[in-house]
Amino acid sequence: MAQAKKALNRKNGRRGERALRGAAKTYHNYIGGQWVASAGGEWFENANPANTRDIVGRFPLSTAEDVDAAVESARNAFDRWRRTPAPRRAEILFRLGEILIRNKERFSAEMTREMGKVLKETGGDVQEAIDCTFYTAGEGRRLHGFTTPAEMPDKFAMCVRQPVGLCGLITPWNFPMAIPSWKLIPALVCGNTVVIKPAEDTPLSTYNLVKACEEAGIPPGVVNLVTGYGEPAGASITNHPALRLISFTGSTETGRIVASACAERNAICSLEMGGKNVIIVMDDADVDLAVEGAVWGAFGTSGQRCTASSRLVVHKKVYKLFSKKLIERARGLKVGNGADPKTEMGPVINADAVHKIMGYIEIGEREDRATLACGGNRLTKGDYANGYFIEPTVFTDVAPDMRIAQEEIFGPVTAVIPTDSLEDAVEIANGVRYGLSAAIYTQDVNRAFHAMNEMYTGIFYVNSSTIGAEVHLPFGGTKATGNGHREAGTQVLDIFSEWKSIYVDYSGKLQRAQIDVVESAD
Ligand code: ADP
Repeated sequence: MAQAKKALNRKNGRRGERALRGAAKTYHNYIGGQWVASAGGEWFENANPANTRDIVGRFPLSTAEDVDAAVESARNAFDRWRRTPAPRRAEILFRLGEILIRNKERFSAEMTREMGKVLKETGGDVQEAIDCTFYTAGEGRRLHGFTTPAEMPDKFAMCVRQPVGLCGLITPWNFPMAIPSWKLIPALVCGNTVVIKPAEDTPLSTYNLVKACEEAGIPPGVVNLVTGYGEPAGASITNHPALRLISFTGSTETGRIVASACAERNAICSLEMGGKNVIIVMDDADVDLAVEGAVWGAFGTSGQRCTASSRLVVHKKVYKLFSKKLIERARGLKVGNGADPKTEMGPVINADAVHKIMGYIEIGEREDRATLACGGNRLTKGDYANGYFIEPTVFTDVAPDMRIAQEEIFGPVTAVIPTDSLEDAVEIANGVRYGLSAAIYTQDVNRAFHAMNEMYTGIFYVNSSTIGAEVHLPFGGTKATGNGHREAGTQVLDIFSEWKSIYVDYSGKLQRAQIDVVESAD
């Protein structure tokens, strides 16, 4: 609770406390098909990061008791849902997709209000949930297994997918509907029941998704929503003995806690965490195109994407030109409330984020191995007074081992690093602990393929920024970014289903594998 209070103050300041007594709309948990308050009857507020006086709503401050109730309801619903034929489950999900389409505009506006990113991007976030829903619902008529020859005569071998069981889904605030959908929809099509806890900064978008699930006709108990903080709500999910799988997206630090807790109780755990993504710009690149990619990758979502382009490794021959153009574009970006269609970059999520990002800017400034080329300030005057706005910030001449070039900042800050060859660029690019996304700008197909082959990341782009994943390709990263799983694509089915190998012996006699070797079938 202490952490909850702290977080309340963190996002809203004292004004938030005042507004708590005002008329903010009240939302509920969804457990066993009922919309309910938390067992303790406590609430937390969700404020607009562009204007913290604007309270988006109040949400149940859930505890272990609420998680227990949600898990119980998921348990009660499981047998019926897993026995519902997958094509029937998918039909409900197709209806969900239609509902999301009908509500796209409202959901986007509400997401901008609670999360800050500009309307075009929240539209993209909702669209990603729509795409994910239709694409994954299509799996209801596939969920392919395979057959394979058995080593004995008159014996049949095959492999099918079965649901994992009860799943706990813990999601972050930067893609408040897309990321929940990446987990929820495949979990459901595979026949699992779930308890989902959205980030405390963005519960409304997940509420909207779950409400749409109800409207689509997903049976009570199959999807359960519990809002609240990492402690106690998130931790209660992670530690719940009945939740066979925890799927988590968030910070590397929290991911480690989640992974340890899962290891402790032998739960399956899929993690999607940080990144320190890179764009390589070669001397033969279309520099204007590369600058556009860098601006989009570094400052889209105010740099708060796990795939953000936070490092730009640029060949010395185009370094000056590239940097000059990048700085011009960064300076010209219109920062403001994401609800204004003219805004190009919104606020960051909360006061903690401001603190962390400004801390990294200070670190960059203190070292003499980098130059603060533009930005670097928090904006606090006029329309910015009640929000969490930071200028688009570019450091140039950055040494690759500096902290700003190594650690995930998760804000509108990017580091330009000079290089004199492709080999050196690739070495710098791979020289971080993360391995999510990388890109190269070049007109030379040989260089593009060389970098594609050498970059040890889960995602790679040629002549395009580090952001912009599509739902039918696997998403995830190497090294400290994840723990070997992939979301999206059909690969996500390997998270949310388990393989069952089946042998059917119709020989009418005991046939011992590896022992009764049949030489030929004469
Ligand atoms: P960030 O620092 O970017 O907010 P987090 O990793 O803390 O990222 O948050 C991602 C999600 O993990 C959120 O839903 C948050 O509430 C949840 N969370 C935070 N701490 C814990 C924890 N100890 N156990 C489980 N979930 C947690």
